[in-house]
Amino acid sequence: MRNSALPHTHSDVPARASTTWHVLGAGSMGMLWATRLARAGLPVKLIVRNCERLQAYKAARGLTLIEGEESQKWNIRAQIPENGEPIQRLLVTCKAYDAQQAVAQIAARLTPDAEIILLQNGLGSQQAVAALVPHIRCIFASSTEGAFRDGDWRVVFAGRGHTWLGDADQGTIAQWLDELQRSGIDHEWSPNILSRLWRKLALNCAINPLTVLYDCRNGGLQAHSAEVHTLCAELSALLEHCGQAGAAVGLATEVDRVIRATANNYSSMHQDVAHGRRTEISYLLGYACEAARSSQFAVPHLQHLHQRLTEHLQQRGLPCN
Ligand code: NAP
Repeated sequence: MRNSALPHTHSDVPARASTTWHVLGAGSMGMLWATRLARAGLPVKLIVRNCERLQAYKAARGLTLIEGEESQKWNIRAQIPENGEPIQRLLVTCKAYDAQQAVAQIAARLTPDAEIILLQNGLGSQQAVAALVPHIRCIFASSTEGAFRDGDWRVVFAGRGHTWLGDADQGTIAQWLDELQRSGIDHEWSPNILSRLWRKLALNCAINPLTVLYDCRNGGLQAHSAEVHTLCAELSALLEHCGQAGAAVGLATEVDRVIRATANNYSSMHQDVAHGRRTEISYLLGYACEAARSSQFAVPHLQHLHQRLTEHLQQRGLPCN
């Protein structure tokens, strides 16, 4: 395993002056993005929760990115939310349930021309952040990359994937996509990012809660295909009702394909529950049920699934929101 500790002043400097990427939330995705941007010579700063976390980070002397057999340490600068420095480009990599409060903490630091890139799974947290800072451009992202922490300030790049970015208000293409290119972050501008996010949410609703309730790998759902297909039919109808007909096309077929292709994997929600971690249920199945309820559209199977999952989480002492 190769190890290289590089100071933030190393020679790989950007070709032109670039806006600093402030990364809010130094978890799996935050570290995965920050280290790759830093590796491309781009200016990056981490925003960690508080002084205690900042001290812990300084003691670790950087973030470690582990990719296969390679391990590289990047001494990226870090700060706390209360730091007064203006923020022009903010990448939010907190969990969906933390995003709004985390952005509220730094909102006063955003410059009038700032952009926020939101990497949260599901739906609801992006809209909450956008409502909090209505004068700031928010770009939503949906990623199929996979990463996990194997220690404090260490991230394992577990699965290559793709990231779609887009402006839900139909704004123009972001000017900094070339920086993602330089950083090796596989990406694409999506003119209909909400459709992408809804599709991913629907896939998640059809698979993840059942893997928790049946305590199985994704492939275990092949034994429950009638139940999965009932959910897919209801989800497709809901998507159409919500003006997202495009996201409903071939949903059941894709769910079946994902279940087969990831048969040996545990879903992210299953992993969260198994580790006693809070899930993002409110931004996934909870969001779908709430979208149906608020427009008086009946989704009895999704509601029942939500109720079973809520009870399951309660029994384990985990939050249901
Ligand atoms: P994570 O590892 O739990 O990281 C979240 C980070 O946010 C934590 O480091 C947490 O700090 C930090 N945070 C929370 N509130 C904060 C605040 N107020 N100020 C500063 N930092 C704060 O989560 P993740 O796996 O990276 O997931 C982030 C989002 O990406 C989720 O919505 C997830 O669904 C989505 N996503 C993840 C993956 C993946 O493979 N991991 C893939 C696709 C999408 P502490 O460490 O102090 O708690």
